[in-house]
Amino acid sequence: MKKQRKKGHPELVLRGVGVSPGVVCGLVYLISSEETTYAEKTLSEAEVPLEIRRFESAVIETRRQINAIQKNVQRAIGQYDANIFDVHKMVLDDGAFVEEAIRKIRADRCNAETVVRGVVARYAEALSIVEDDYLRERVADVKDVARRVLRNLSGEKTHVLDGLRDRSIVVSADLAPSETASLRKELVMGFATDLGSTTSHTAIMARALGIPAVVGLGNVTAQLQPGDTVLMDGTAGVLIVHPSEKSLRKYGKLAEVRQAIRTGLNHLRDEPATTRDGHRVTLSANIELLDEIADVRRFGAEGIGLFRSEYLYIARNDLPTEDEQVVAYREAAQLLAPAAVIIRTVDLGGDKFASAVKMPQEINPFLGFRAIRFCLAQPDIFRTQLRAILRASAFGKIRVMYPMVSNVDEVIRANALLAECKEELTRNRVAFDEQLEVGVMIEIPSAALTSDVLARHVKFFSLGTNDLVQYTLAVDRINDRVAHLYEPAHPAVLKLIKTTIDNGHAAGIWVGICGQMGSDPLMTPLLLGLGLDEFSVVPSSVPVIKDMIRNVSRAEARELAERALAASTATEVIELCRVLTARIAPEILELVK
Ligand code: PEP
Ligand code: MG
Repeated sequence: MKKQRKKGHPELVLRGVGVSPGVVCGLVYLISSEETTYAEKTLSEAEVPLEIRRFESAVIETRRQINAIQKNVQRAIGQYDANIFDVHKMVLDDGAFVEEAIRKIRADRCNAETVVRGVVARYAEALSIVEDDYLRERVADVKDVARRVLRNLSGEKTHVLDGLRDRSIVVSADLAPSETASLRKELVMGFATDLGSTTSHTAIMARALGIPAVVGLGNVTAQLQPGDTVLMDGTAGVLIVHPSEKSLRKYGKLAEVRQAIRTGLNHLRDEPATTRDGHRVTLSANIELLDEIADVRRFGAEGIGLFRSEYLYIARNDLPTEDEQVVAYREAAQLLAPAAVIIRTVDLGGDKFASAVKMPQEINPFLGFRAIRFCLAQPDIFRTQLRAILRASAFGKIRVMYPMVSNVDEVIRANALLAECKEELTRNRVAFDEQLEVGVMIEIPSAALTSDVLARHVKFFSLGTNDLVQYTLAVDRINDRVAHLYEPAHPAVLKLIKTTIDNGHAAGIWVGICGQMGSDPLMTPLLLGLGLDEFSVVPSSVPVIKDMIRNVSRAEARELAERALAASTATEVIELCRVLTARIAPEILELVK
């Protein structure tokens, strides 16, 4: 961190969305958002077939390039991320793009560049008004493909990052997934964009590649010059332009201190998650992609407490087959055996959509056709997944859990389908684990409040606090305008957690957490004090949560929980948690600033 502030430039602090963690400081490599201009040309009758051929060659070349990028991504970070480029190929295969362009070249006698830009503008406009985050974000995919086609039409072989020679922080209006995938980690220290959100493929790719990133900065590209010094915190979502000595020291120190604390926790990898007074809990990890299994082991988690299986369904044009799913679940089970892998049945709807599944347009998708509701309405899709989970269960310790359950009837119906699948496999002499344990995610207040009833039908509960908080407090979890009201430590949420744990224990079943609240070290003693048996957290958070568990006694945790349950506000609860953390593990406070 030796970068200097240019004389006379005041420090400017910009806030966006931190989508990939890490603190970096470097010089800006600015990608101009100005599109190359293409002259509009009218063709003679004789030139039309030649122009169509030129366009078709550019499409073929684009497809070749996308295949090559897809192969690279697959090699570098795995098949599931590589599937993102299926969407790009779909754009090229879609009649609305290629055929419409050819039709227009013929009808308007216009050059291919002009036609492509017109078709893309209409496509993007149609998608941008759709009330569906996933589809809206596909505008970036369409533009990405069109940019390639245009570049290939002009014969231009350069890439937007070809000019990048020194390690820099890339700043651009937007970065397409394929551009993100071609970022070379040795040259790109981090990137910042005007647009973007946490659910975009670009954000997913940045995290998978381990490149710090802040997106959604508004008009950062207009506020920067190439070569400006910027300091970026990918955790907090902050970009500081012309950082002052004080900020450089603060963040430099912060990064060093955070790194030192994290390194200091490495020795816990093979230690158990046991409280100071010897009470053992289970500490597992959440995964979205199979490639994260290496992290699960590296960070010392015991198994997988949440496998978000819907990522097998997303970013592809068809549904994953039963055999494909068996391969994925079996791989997880075998790699982590004898530890357990909990597969959450597909949670589509809300903000996650699969191209192969027609979902209705809804005004309140988070309150609509989502997760178990979708599965029970589409029993064929559900049965395929249940059979795959059962078949994979013969190869390791697999458990299954249902998301977004709001009443016991849903659990009974899902269990009946599972029983049918078991009978079918038995008839066909296919092996599976007869003892496969079924659980329910507690994500809706009605499920928490009737958890005594639900407990009669399952072997465990997993608190999905990301949703439990949004449904309890009526705060949309992806709406940044009401983000200040999204409070996992709200006493109402704590009371629902306590009810769930008490009801689970009264029925003799264990209760875990797989929502983000479990990855917050400040909350660890509180959750232990409420009686939690299992934590499933982001893989990189495993060491810090283990450290908290090992530093607290059950008596301290219970006393904290009692006081928190009597508190009036989330702020009071957080303060109680801070005071205890300052006493038992003060260095951890540095990681949560
Ligand atoms: C949750 O809601 O807490 C959860 C783990 O599920 P998701 O975040 O995938 O909705
Ligand atoms: Mg959820």
